[in-house]
Amino acid sequence: MLMKEAREQIVEYGKKLIAEGLTTGTAGNISIYDENLRYMAVSPSGIPYEKTLPEDVVIMDLDGHVIDGARKPSSEAGLHSVFYKTSPQARAMVHAHSMYCTILACMGEPLRSVHYAIAEAGTDEIPLVPYHTFGTPELAAAAGECLKGGSRGLILANHGMCAWGADLKSAFGLALTMEWCAQVQWHCMAAGKINVLSHEQMQGAFKRYMTYGQDDSGSKGYF
Ligand SMILES: [Zn+2]
Repeated sequence: MLMKEAREQIVEYGKKLIAEGLTTGTAGNISIYDENLRYMAVSPSGIPYEKTLPEDVVIMDLDGHVIDGARKPSSEAGLHSVFYKTSPQARAMVHAHSMYCTILACMGEPLRSVHYAIAEAGTDEIPLVPYHTFGTPELAAAAGECLKGGSRGLILANHGMCAWGADLKSAFGLALTMEWCAQVQWHCMAAGKINVLSHEQMQGAFKRYMTYGQDDSGSKGYF
């Protein structure tokens, strides 16, 4: 089976999306990019995560052609491919409609450096991508523009969030961090008092994040 390990990981992490409360139903989708084959494995469209099998995962090139798989790919396959075209170190992407990131998305708010943990994304603000209809080339193009700023995360206006990483574990970890930071930011905004860290204050957090963690954790390479 082509990209067997990637397909198995997408099945495993699809179940984690539900278990960790990052999405409900069939919303959200996951991809893994193989830089040697130049193909991505992407979640199928409309199949519940608990029923998805490795053979349901679709293999595509970055121009939108299906290479292997009988299922229809996720409607956001074009959005996934723009991450691999724009961010050369991206090897996996998680897109979810997680509650607090989606609340900020619907308020028209980027994710700000309210808590230093946002440093995991590589920038001190996770940008807000202007609204476009889901599944369209316009949404993918707008996301690609925002990715040029170097963030590993995006908030999609009135839609949800995206996170990329050097592997799926790293992308999924950032998705969880973004959701937690969004929850903190929303509560601060609801309380009417918010203290955003300055760019200078965030520099220390970036340095710490570059050296944080155990050497054998396998999740140290954020970039
Ligand atoms: Zn979506």
